[in-house]
Amino acid sequence: MKDLKLAGDKSQKSVIKVGDVCLGGKEIVLIGGPCAVESSIQMEKAAASVRRSGGKILRGGVFKPRTSPYSFQGLGLEGVNYLVQAAREEGLLCVTEVIDLRSLEMVVDKVDLLQIGARNMQNFELLKLAGKVNKPIILKRGLSATIEEWLLAAEYIMAAGNSQVILCERGIRTFEPSTRNTLDLSAVGVAKELSHLPVIVDPSHAAGRRDLIASLSKAAVASGADGLLIEMHPNPEEALSDGPQSLTPEQFMTLAQDLELVAQSVGRNFVSRETRETLETLRSEIDLIDHTIVERLSKRMQIVRKIGDQKRLDKVKDVGRERDILQRLVPLAEELQLSPEFIKRIYSYVFEFSVQSQIKSKLTGDDQLESLCPMGGK
Ligand code: PEP
Ligand code: MN
Repeated sequence: MKDLKLAGDKSQKSVIKVGDVCLGGKEIVLIGGPCAVESSIQMEKAAASVRRSGGKILRGGVFKPRTSPYSFQGLGLEGVNYLVQAAREEGLLCVTEVIDLRSLEMVVDKVDLLQIGARNMQNFELLKLAGKVNKPIILKRGLSATIEEWLLAAEYIMAAGNSQVILCERGIRTFEPSTRNTLDLSAVGVAKELSHLPVIVDPSHAAGRRDLIASLSKAAVASGADGLLIEMHPNPEEALSDGPQSLTPEQFMTLAQDLELVAQSVGRNFVSRETRETLETLRSEIDLIDHTIVERLSKRMQIVRKIGDQKRLDKVKDVGRERDILQRLVPLAEELQLSPEFIKRIYSYVFEFSVQSQIKSKLTGDDQLESLCPMGGK
């Protein structure tokens, strides 16, 4: 590709430094936030979640290039201020998409990175404008762009004077309708083979559905991506755009934790929590853990009720099974520096409520049977 004079110069791998964040180095950089900025409180919650999960950059669109002219188009300048303020308060960097000269001029001195979206990847005038600014540009791959076209778009920015380009694979249009786009993970390797630029992956716009984001993100890290750009909303059900593909803050945190191992296994670093430990950040961490504990307890009780359905009423309490469980959990607790007494006490409650719940569900079930067979045909 002879025209990749700058993007294709492989003499040195580019590491793009923004504040204290390096894109293209050993660390996996996590970028998160809602599709669109909607309010200051939404951005505060999103920023707190990004920071708690070890993310370094807050995203949020304020100029939304929507497929329909009737869809929410973004809050413009008001939204940038919410984005910037939320990021600053949490010690994060921030990025937003620009779509033309006017939007670029409005945000360039406020945010830390600019994004050029898939729909504008071949907006050559915009690419040249991006080449004139001194801010890193996240360049999304176009909806139907080949890797060569994508790299040539990067070349436009670089030829105009800005070498700080980060490529972002976000899925391409294929014949497959079960996902919004098809995430092309081979593009990560190909783009890295052909250029020296950092490559990040946006699984959200690729999948279009939240259930696939975690596995695609892990696969992206394994495939060599330098970072992830993931949509996360404090309340996805109420999002004004891209709610179905947005993770909840809890899902975002769980994914971040899982990414640590994946990153390690491919020789990269990622720390799924912020390093600044204040009373407030520690409490937020506790809040998230408590949330998970209650969710898991609820799941446990659901299974307990199913087991109850298979037991006889007079055999609901199973002392032997309780002993077995504790025999496994107590050594684990000790290994994890928890007092055995603590675990035994918690589990005495768990067992007590489980037995009660099984009895109750059996009695209700039997009542139902009774009302179905009033003659007592059990
Ligand atoms: C976005 O990131 O908000 C966005 C619109 O993505 P894309 O340009 O990849 O569709
Ligand atoms: Mn979006």
